[in-house]
Amino acid sequence: MAKKKSKREYVWLECKDCKNRNYRTTVSVAEGTPKIELKKFCKSERKHTVHKIRRK
Ligand SMILES: [Zn+2]
Repeated sequence: MAKKKSKREYVWLECKDCKNRNYRTTVSVAEGTPKIELKKFCKSERKHTVHKIRRK
């Protein structure tokens, strides 16, 4: 029997500026969608922008 308490789900990291979904990652969603903002490289803008988590 599996004893996995942590709920993890695949999410997208969406660019705040151009709304491009550039990255895929897993986050813990046990207490709802985490409000995380990450500075990531946006391919279409060719610069670092803030990316927000977006569930499917
Ligand atoms: Zn962008």
